[in-house]
Amino acid sequence: MSYDAIVVGGGLVGAAIAYGLCREGLRPAVLDEGDVALRASRGNFGLVWVQSKGLGNPAYQRWSRSSSALWLELAAALKNETGIGVGHSRPGGVAICLTQEEFAARARMMGEMRAQMGDEGFDYRMLDHGEVKELLPGIGPQVVGASWSPYDGHANPLYTLRALHAAIRARGGHYIAEAKVDALSVEGTTFSADTAKGRFQAPRLVLAAGLGNAALADAVGLSIPVFPVRGQVIVTERIAPRLRMPTLILRQTEEGSIMIGESREEGRRDDQTGIDVVRSLAARAIKTFPFLGSVRMLRTWAALRVMTPDGFPVYEQSQRHPGAFAATCHSGVTLAAAHALRYAKHVAAGALPEDFAPFHSRRFHDSVPSA
Ligand SMILES: Cc1cc2nc3c(=O)[nH]c(=O)nc-3n(C[C@H](O)[C@H](O)[C@H](O)COP(=O)(O)OP(=O)(O)OC[C@H]3O[C@@H](n4cnc5c(N)ncnc54)[C@H](O)[C@@H]3O)c2cc1C
Repeated sequence: MSYDAIVVGGGLVGAAIAYGLCREGLRPAVLDEGDVALRASRGNFGLVWVQSKGLGNPAYQRWSRSSSALWLELAAALKNETGIGVGHSRPGGVAICLTQEEFAARARMMGEMRAQMGDEGFDYRMLDHGEVKELLPGIGPQVVGASWSPYDGHANPLYTLRALHAAIRARGGHYIAEAKVDALSVEGTTFSADTAKGRFQAPRLVLAAGLGNAALADAVGLSIPVFPVRGQVIVTERIAPRLRMPTLILRQTEEGSIMIGESREEGRRDDQTGIDVVRSLAARAIKTFPFLGSVRMLRTWAALRVMTPDGFPVYEQSQRHPGAFAATCHSGVTLAAAHALRYAKHVAAGALPEDFAPFHSRRFHDSVPSA
């Protein structure tokens, strides 16, 4: 089966890029492993989060910020093309600090971020307790303060994924489930992907298989060192609107549920939940917003983040096989708009511009900045 492009992985990263390729007039096949896979895109927290992205890598801050701005266009296009509203809003966001030490560390980090962005600027403010209370009246007495930035927002990641798949279909692309890529090969400028559903061929290949990228990359001259970091999420019953903007650890969805997240456990390859983490997430949430103490928790789940050694994304084009590209990141919701509306354009044009150099995996082989 011949296509203009093969995208391996139908999570948020692969689907966003495939949708972007369709917008460029290409017909991609999205090959996706299926329900047995560990899929970050179906278990995440839904923040479109910029304020703490890219310390030590200004290109990442720039990229995240551009994606946050482009989200307005992406959400509107998806609604227009599929009728699916993805619950996106960009009211700004706060990272709440519960101790003086947290507040001082946060203020230091945000200051460093502003310094590294130079003339481009970095819009944020450190807020004291009273200022946070004006934005979020439900906070508890233990809240010392917060960092605020206008770049942050949130979206419903499941509706986003569904809308991307629907938009791909509507524009003539194919999403093929239960099609794990078992082997990749290249002949001349044609890539072949072998799956249980047959062989797929195309002159362009995008590896966007999340944690699956590590095993696939070598066959096409790429290197994508990713590993899992488990995160657990709590969701509550729906309540009347209380939070007008997301915070780094909790947000209120469009439907009214409160989602509580932001745990990180390295060395776990399973998506089991654990009571200790859930308890500590709930405790911090209640310290931050005491009214949550009487809101019923409905469900918890866990999912695996797709992490690189320095936490920054990998975008690269194979030198050996220039039609092959890689895309991997740990903030696939935040970056969905940049993937759809910018990264895919470069893939369609056949070359990544020089400003993607900071995202090349060669940084793991040379000396590297760390996130
Ligand atoms: C708890 C948690 C909270 C998070 N919160 C946020 C947040 O608030 N904001 C944010 O921006 N990001 C967040 N993330 C990160 C975000 O979910 C991920 O960055 C994003 O989902 C990654 O998408 P992906 O498509 O790369 O990977 P995945 O969603 O893992 O998708 C990869 C796909 O590739 C397929 N695949 C793998 N191997 C193969 C193969 N050989 N052949 C075919 N298909 C294959 C799999 O089936 C899967 O569908 C969070 C993640 C977690 C776990």
